[in-house]
Amino acid sequence: MTPKMDTTEPILFVLSIDTEEEWEWGEAFPQQDANVSNIDNIPAFQKVCEGLGLRPTYFVDYAVADNPQAVEHILPLVPEGNCEIGAHLHPWCNPPFFGPVGEFESHVVNLPKEQVSQKLENLVKKLEQSFSIKPKSFRTGRWGIDKKVMSLLIEQGFNVDSSVYPFYENEYFHCNGSPSLPYWPDLDYPLKVSSQQMIYELPVTVGFNRSNFELANKIHTAFTKPPLSWTRFNG
Ligand SMILES: [Zn+2]
Repeated sequence: MTPKMDTTEPILFVLSIDTEEEWEWGEAFPQQDANVSNIDNIPAFQKVCEGLGLRPTYFVDYAVADNPQAVEHILPLVPEGNCEIGAHLHPWCNPPFFGPVGEFESHVVNLPKEQVSQKLENLVKKLEQSFSIKPKSFRTGRWGIDKKVMSLLIEQGFNVDSSVYPFYENEYFHCNGSPSLPYWPDLDYPLKVSSQQMIYELPVTVGFNRSNFELANKIHTAFTKPPLSWTRFNG
């Protein structure tokens, strides 16, 4: 008898972690002195990853990069080369500040280009100072990307973005129609594929555990909005 060959293709994936402050999500967005004590657990988490042969990407935000104790936990991991430090932009705790931050202002895509530009510049500088690295990968806080953010990422020397959240939509933006596998995004409309090769898009992995993806997506979308959302069917 011939032994059964395993013809399953290996699954290649990237593990990325939004490395950020913690707070009660139903409360106001923290601006200064955010709680980053959750970062104390990164060294233990990194050990687990290394045990599994994984090299995670930590998308670090300003609140973490600006906190000496949090930096102390992450910094020793960097020269070992078993992880990558990327950038994560939370507009509410990333200077300069432009007034109170509500739901609208918490989404990077809703902010004027000039504000995003200044915040991103500060974030990159802070990561360079704290970790002696130049971040090459990026994710927006609360997801979503547009032409304006894409152009700023290229200006700052990023070559990977991971802000696309396939099938997701809210009142400010959507990622409908985006590929669900990595692609070269159109710089004018990042949800579409193009031939540029300056920046690569790694959409976050999402999907439905149903074989009819299209139908599952339609049902899911219908239940996110009134008149059906009250049923909490999606939950
Ligand atoms: Zn975040």
